[in-house]
Parts: sequence; structure tokens; C-alpha cells
Amino acid sequence: MRKALIAGNWKMNKTDPEAIELARALVAEVGQYEACDILLCPPFTSLKSVGDVIRGSKIKLGAQTMHWEKSGAFTGMVCADMLKSLGCTYVIIGHSEQRQFFGETDETVNKRTRAALANGLTPIVCVGEFLEQRESGKHEQIVRDQVIQGLKGLTSDEMKQVAIAYEPVWAIGTGKTASSQDADDMHACIRSTIEKVWNRDVAQGLVIQYGGSVKPDTIDEQMAMPNIDGALVGGAALQADSFARIVRFQ
Ligand code: 13P
Repeated sequence: MRKALIAGNWKMNKTDPEAIELARALVAEVGQYEACDILLCPPFTSLKSVGDVIRGSKIKLGAQTMHWEKSGAFTGMVCADMLKSLGCTYVIIGHSEQRQFFGETDETVNKRTRAALANGLTPIVCVGEFLEQRESGKHEQIVRDQVIQGLKGLTSDEMKQVAIAYEPVWAIGTGKTASSQDADDMHACIRSTIEKVWNRDVAQGLVIQYGGSVKPDTIDEQMAMPNIDGALVGGAALQADSFARIVRFQ
């Protein structure tokens, strides 16, 4: 049985005092909740303070990206050791905003994913198509390629430490969600791709989150789908009450 993973990607939101306030409210609301795994991914600037607030609760800490090198002259970047030293156990990799605005490619996704795994961090590898790609019927092929290229060369054991987030780009921050059936179809396609390239065991154990305008009033139907194992939540993760309701999906 796959344990659901509900993650908040705070993106470039929240000053440090605001981040502390949100984390405190979440600890009060769902800090001891165990029916699913709960993950917060604040900006780098608040990893330390959010980590301090959630210590002792069940809530986990993750970053929004990382570099693949161990250290060095990479201005503006952080490496796995830095994230681990602040208590991170997860890192989001290949988010569509990184792909669109910061030059992320399947090749850099692969490098970051390998580096995360080599350092004991769980990568959440993000994939998803643009609207034109869906409208022209290429969405499954596009996402399949992102999965295969992004995860190329990983062993079955490494794959057991990976999560995938399917985030159709046209559903991010737009208020448009993929229908639960469309999302589930894509998750099933990802799972069968994983089974072909690795094996059934890896595919059945893989947590595949959906992301893209997840809200308190969409989550119950989404989580009822057989292949949706969690959510990567943007806007609705910025308020404690809405994120807590998503965490407590029925
Ligand atoms: P929204 O929930 O704001 O659409 O963002 C989704 C997302 O990109 C999470 O990583």
C-alpha cells in the first residue's frame, strides 16, 4: 500500500516571519496527523526556521530545487549537504517553473535526481505537458519522455526512493484542474512506463502526486482515484486552514 504524500510548495512566497507563522499554524492543526505524509517546501530562506518550528511534529521538510555538485562556485545555488544540515529529507526537482524560467532540462533533472538520491534525499520529480501538447494529443508521449529521461540510469533500489509529481502546466495557478479521470489516466500511463523500464514492484510502490490548482474542494475526488497518491499544492498551501483540509482528505 502506498502512503499518500501531501506537499505544500510555497514557491517564492512568505517572508521568514510569515513562514514561521504558517508553519506554527500547521503544527497546531496537523502536526501529529499520521494518515498521510505531510511535507512543507518553503523557500531556501526559511528552511531553517520552518525546520525549527516543525521539529518534533510529523511534518517533513523539503526544498524546491538543489544543485547536483557537492560544493563550489555556483552563485545562487545550494547543494544536498546544505539542505540535509537543515533537516530536509525531500527536494522538488524539475518543477515546470524551473523548466520554463530557469533553463531546467530533462538532463539537469537527471543530474539533480541522482545527486539527491546519492545524498539520501527523496526527489519529487515533476513532469507535465503544456496545453498545446495536450490539445494535439501528444501529452502522454511528452510526459513519458520526461519520466524516462529524468530518471535515466537509476537502479530499482534508487527508484524506490523517488516520488513523481504530475503537474499539467496549464493547470498550475490557473484555477483549472485536470479532471480526476484525466489525471488518473496520466498517472496510470506513468506507472506503466515505470513498470516497463524498471519492474512491477517499483511501479506499484511509486508515489505519484497530482499538482495543479488542488484545492480543499477538489482533493477528495482526486484522492479517490486509484493512481493518485498525493498532491503537490501551490496556492492552497499558503494558508493553514486550506492546506490542513487538503491534508485531511476523505
Ligand atoms: P497551484 O496549486 O498554485 O496551481 O500550483 C501547483 C504547483 O505548481 C505545485 O508545485
